[in-house]
Amino acid sequence: MTPVFHWDNGLKLTKADLAIDVRRRQPRAFISHAHADHIARHQYALCTPETAALYHLRLGRRPTLDVPYREPIEWGGLRLTTYPAGHCLGSAMLLAEDGEQSLLYTGDFKLGESATAERAELPRADVLVIESTYGHPGYRLPPRDEALGQLFEEVARALADGAVPVVEAYALGKAQEVTRLLTGAGFPVLQHKQVFPISRVYESFGVDLGDCGLLRGDPPPGHVLVVPPRTARFETVAREVRFAVTGWAVDRGAKYRLRVDHAIPLSDHADYEELLEAIGRVAPRKVYCTHGPESFVERVRDAGFDAHPLGRPSQGRLF
Ligand SMILES: [Zn+2]
Repeated sequence: MTPVFHWDNGLKLTKADLAIDVRRRQPRAFISHAHADHIARHQYALCTPETAALYHLRLGRRPTLDVPYREPIEWGGLRLTTYPAGHCLGSAMLLAEDGEQSLLYTGDFKLGESATAERAELPRADVLVIESTYGHPGYRLPPRDEALGQLFEEVARALADGAVPVVEAYALGKAQEVTRLLTGAGFPVLQHKQVFPISRVYESFGVDLGDCGLLRGDPPPGHVLVVPPRTARFETVAREVRFAVTGWAVDRGAKYRLRVDHAIPLSDHADYEELLEAIGRVAPRKVYCTHGPESFVERVRDAGFDAHPLGRPSQGRLF
């Protein structure tokens, strides 16, 4: 039996000769979402229409084949179907089926609620390749309402004190979600010039971000600024209160390491509990873990699954 996938400087679906989220140019590649560490200037890319729009924005117009959620295509002897991954606009899991066996590649994903990304769906599969960034028991995020409560309270306090709240968030995904959450709570937002064009793509796909515009010149009073991480201080602003919105906020001392006043634990990645929940729902015969700590593989084995690390030469076989 042909293996489902193999490792050749990156994950490849063997039958279809399709590279998955490989960061170097490929003849044919599937892009799970448009974060920089998942894209390259491929000759031909398969992705959701939303990811295609973001990919074109980031790297210029390139040949792509739209694979909308839940609409299977036949490709190189495989049936390929995308499912929402809950991570950012257009983020997709990929289910590959050859009639005998099935493989689900999660890409970056989150199971819980998102203000701006479609909620993740997990089909069953024989083989699961799971992105396990937060695969350590220390990464259990607090309830979402608690994190949001902290964000809104501190933003309101900063505004009341005459300071400018500046929220650092990744330009694609987190920035749009935090904008939607802030505008939904009644705080008008101005976005950095690296964030705003991405937000326009969100809006073109019907994601309403509320009272949000492009920051030009000095920030007017009463607004929250949403900027990429490590954006320099605004020289004309007398007093800033800086926020980082990230899953790493659960680390002790995160705000010092991130050099912000408040680190808010809101993530667009599955936390430890969600990773284990996802594996249980997919109910695979084999699990391959990527991007996470090696100890996570042991924990998945302890939970009763045949688990392996991915990222070095390996072949995905069912036997
Ligand atoms: Zn990502």
